[in-house]
Amino acid sequence: MSGLELRDISKRFGPVTAVADINLHIPEGRFVSFLGPSGCGKTTLLRLIAGLETATAGHIVLDGEDLTDRPTHRRNIGMVFQSLALFPHLSVGENITYSQKIRGAGRAERRKRADELLELVRLPGVADRNIAQLSGGQRQRVAIARALALEPKLFLLDEPLSALDAKLREEMQVELRMLQERLGITTIIVTHDQREAMTMSDEVVVMSTARVQQMGAPLEIYRNPASAFVAEFIGTSNLIEARQADGDSVRIGGQTFRTGGKPDGVAAGGDVVVSVRPEDVHVFPASGEGPNRLDGTVTFVRDVGASVETFVACGDLQIVAMATPKDRPDVHKGDDVKVELPAECCVVLKA
Ligand code: ATP
Repeated sequence: MSGLELRDISKRFGPVTAVADINLHIPEGRFVSFLGPSGCGKTTLLRLIAGLETATAGHIVLDGEDLTDRPTHRRNIGMVFQSLALFPHLSVGENITYSQKIRGAGRAERRKRADELLELVRLPGVADRNIAQLSGGQRQRVAIARALALEPKLFLLDEPLSALDAKLREEMQVELRMLQERLGITTIIVTHDQREAMTMSDEVVVMSTARVQQMGAPLEIYRNPASAFVAEFIGTSNLIEARQADGDSVRIGGQTFRTGGKPDGVAAGGDVVVSVRPEDVHVFPASGEGPNRLDGTVTFVRDVGASVETFVACGDLQIVAMATPKDRPDVHKGDDVKVELPAECCVVLKA
């Protein structure tokens, strides 16, 4: 099988299980994110793939070759860490071609490669500069160029953009993705930022407590989260406790709501959680009658220009609705309103 396979990979540090029985296949050329909260094991999983940690159990296979016992320098992997770890006393070009030098490449060959790579990361003409003379974003590009110098089969990035300010970070996300598409290199990035994962990846691996919760295309996970944890971690969601009723209906408080479907293995009367994305929720003045609506009172309106969020207290429930400025509901703090949860947008999950 081509690409990267993780077979029953586990890693324990004494009593702590950092990674538990993970099985994954990442086809060649894909861009994949490991996404999850702090401590869920994503960095450990990346370090296992890189050979910087030794697995307690399981196998790591790249294009059919078992890498499990192979040292890092023989895995043909390029890595970028959050810290970048550039050498401050070397020039940009020397940093980029450091590993080529170790392998005995001559000065002219190294210079040519450094210039090519700087062109690739859109930073031409700076090979002779000192690292200290570069901005944060430029250093980021140098670290990326260095990781790509030996044409690795796998490109691994551990929170590489987290030190950048928000705007530059978003620019670099797009740039990194475009670069990866041009090179077609299998890439894995570790991040705890769901927006970053969704921007860049073909597939997102959502992890919690040492395990994979769900793997899939960003929009597939967003639209069909496998659990309340995933629904909350990927974007924001209104998570509403409910009871499964007949067919595709649920009971919320004393009312019956139609939904988009029933989870497997839940019988009528079972506890469930209904996930509804804020952008799918509609808010109407209190006179707006219709199905799948709750009564509520507006508690807060957040208008940030590009979007308007309306917070509504419906009894004990706090529901958030999000709209574009063009579609914003004509309601204000303190107004009594109706909140509609459209049936097809109600994703029912096991409690
Ligand atoms: P973060 O986003 O905070 O970096 P993470 O998801 O990358 O978190 P890991 O760094 O992989 O999580 O850590 C997973 C678990 O393994 C944590 O409980 C952590 O404390 C533990 N752990 C990681 N490295 C070691 C180590 N060298 N020795 C002992 N425990 C470790």
